[in-house]
Amino acid sequence: MTDRHEMWKELGMDLEAHDTLCAVLPTAFGDIFLSQENRPEGMAFYDMVVSDIHGIRPAELIEEQKRGRKIFGTFCLYVPDEIIVAADGIVTGLCGGSQFWVPDGEKVLPKNVCPLIKASVGARLGRTCPFFRIADMYVGETTCDGKKKAWEILGEDVPLHIMDMPQMKRVKDIEKWIGEIKEFKQVVETFTGHEVTAENLHAAIVLLNKRRKAMARVYACRKADPIPISGKDVLLMTQIAFFDDPQRCADQANALAEELERRIDAGIGVFPKGTKRILLTGTPMAIPNWKMHHIIETSGAAVVCEECCTGTRYVEHLVDERPMMMEGQLQALADRYMKNNCACFTPNKGRIDDIIRLAEAYHADGVIDVNLKFCTLYDTEKRDVKRALKAAGIPVLSLETDYDDTDAEQLRTRVEAFIEMLG
Ligand code: SF4
Ligand code: SF4
Repeated sequence: MTDRHEMWKELGMDLEAHDTLCAVLPTAFGDIFLSQENRPEGMAFYDMVVSDIHGIRPAELIEEQKRGRKIFGTFCLYVPDEIIVAADGIVTGLCGGSQFWVPDGEKVLPKNVCPLIKASVGARLGRTCPFFRIADMYVGETTCDGKKKAWEILGEDVPLHIMDMPQMKRVKDIEKWIGEIKEFKQVVETFTGHEVTAENLHAAIVLLNKRRKAMARVYACRKADPIPISGKDVLLMTQIAFFDDPQRCADQANALAEELERRIDAGIGVFPKGTKRILLTGTPMAIPNWKMHHIIETSGAAVVCEECCTGTRYVEHLVDERPMMMEGQLQALADRYMKNNCACFTPNKGRIDDIIRLAEAYHADGVIDVNLKFCTLYDTEKRDVKRALKAAGIPVLSLETDYDDTDAEQLRTRVEAFIEMLG
């Protein structure tokens, strides 16, 4: 593998601390992913990306920066990638998914902030993630309280733009959201020096829809029994999509989907036919958070769908490609992004409807609602999720977890009991 130390040094990273992170990842990845049997060949691409996760893509991004392109680091599914891509910018997801970064985050944040926020801040302040070092501008948003305060810390030494999210979805809220997208467009234009035109915005909408369609094709294959791919592997594909080139991401997902479709025709699965099927819902699982998928899929069940931001919310709902004028395109973007049902909205019945719809579509035997510790929004919403699923006759298990592994055995006991109860 190429030695990346010179690149990391130039990025101002803490090489010693970063080496510690690099030392543990291959073992964890091997235990969780490479130990699976009969994996689709199409996963080789994603394995290769993970094997040099802080090398391959960062090196590409640096090359693009040398050509004058700007890199935007984002933390939320509501930020419209299309605007950035239209202005010849590059999007890279920055959410931290490792306990490794949490202690550095806790130096400046209260302990009772969710681990995703602490890890994201820690990855920046501890100088142990190249993506956080490379991004020219961070894009925050006013979703939850923890994030709102985190922007004040992250914005101290990086240009940062914050999108003011509506908290409701009334007509006036959507109008305000269109205004936010317009303002974001101006910020991106100024920062990149590229005007967003109706033509390049249309091309960006088509490209990102292409990525959604390809990934959705992979997701759709999970409706089959036997299931042709594990939940873990689909999660990995989704996590990598957040920082990969959109065209390559679409190509790889389409190639994987073709292989899965052939497997379905041949009746090939990665779990025996009749394996209990779980829909996961809750807070996002940023790379390398594979904890719940691993526990479930080594406890006798398969994860067949994720109703969350590292799941269906990323791949469902296309932006309407028909408008060819700017006003119509901005409206189409606002409409599409407001179809995401994050717990930061009130009321948020759309998410409950999504969970039931997806549980039925993916033939789930049960739903596991997993929330990160200290996420008040999703934690509070679990009451409504549980009530609605019970009324629909769908078994549900609510869990709370952190990034560290201290609760893994306790979680496993509860998951095993739930799967046994499914019969
Ligand atoms: S859970 Fe909500 S705040 Fe978090 S990334 Fe998703 S949409 Fe954004
Ligand atoms: S998991 Fe919850 S608390 Fe954490 S960033 Fe997402 S919405 Fe905010």
